[in-house]
Amino acid sequence: MKKLIFLQSSQGAHWVGDGFPARTIFTYNDLAHKISPFLLMDYAGPAEFTPNNTSHIRGVDEHPHRGFETVTIVYSGEVVHKDSAGGGGTIGPGEVQWMTAASGLVHEEKHGPNFSKSGGRFEMVQLWVNLPAKHKMDKPRYQGLTNKMIPEVTIDGGKVRVIAGSYNGNKGPAMTFSPIELWDVTLAAGKTATFEITAGQTCTVFLLSGLLKTADGGTINEAELGVFETTGTTLQLRAESDSKFLILAGQPLNEPIVGYGPFVMNSEQEIRQAFHDFNNGLMGTMNPIEGSEV
Ligand code: MN
Repeated sequence: MKKLIFLQSSQGAHWVGDGFPARTIFTYNDLAHKISPFLLMDYAGPAEFTPNNTSHIRGVDEHPHRGFETVTIVYSGEVVHKDSAGGGGTIGPGEVQWMTAASGLVHEEKHGPNFSKSGGRFEMVQLWVNLPAKHKMDKPRYQGLTNKMIPEVTIDGGKVRVIAGSYNGNKGPAMTFSPIELWDVTLAAGKTATFEITAGQTCTVFLLSGLLKTADGGTINEAELGVFETTGTTLQLRAESDSKFLILAGQPLNEPIVGYGPFVMNSEQEIRQAFHDFNNGLMGTMNPIEGSEV
């Protein structure tokens, strides 16, 4: 059984643009070397938004990324994305945007138009996933992963939705550049579940709601990330109350990580190049999303 090594939680909340009240759980400046290839996690909400009848759609205006992927998982509400490489889409509860920034793009991330009008509960997770050095300057790519694409596997007391990798032979739809497991799990109070993780992969569990006990007696509370040892292949979790969590596992890249703001590369020289390229318009430009005041 894998042992829990430590817990990580947010040191405070901040707004990302005017649409996403986020807690940053980890970044490329703290945990990224221990849990490669994952670079950053923002947990937005849960929060209530009032109906918005103005033409201003809440969210984050045009900004660049290079060198990694952004993965947005919506639990409640609706998110729309549009980027300078031609990618874009709207996702609702259960759905995922897997955006490969790679060589660079600019994008907007906003509330979806229907959610903006209706208001209501908003909850999402955004992960940044590192790219192997040899793919950092690939062309950008956008994958919109809808509910019907994501296999939902019934387990005793819950379900496992396979976003990336495979669970018990059920393959997730996300195309990735290195081996990654990303599973969206629910488990009822009193139930224990085990998960097989490939030997040598990093392994973390992020609890959105509920309470989890680990095989070695540890506790994961809401909005905490449990970081497990990479040795062993069986992760066992017991739900003390109805629990909703993400399991993240991946083969470590073992390459230098140099991040600055929206860029994550392998050297400072590459970061300087990224700023140069962005400032010279080489990451593209875009028209704003319909209805937003950008
Ligand atoms: Mn972004």
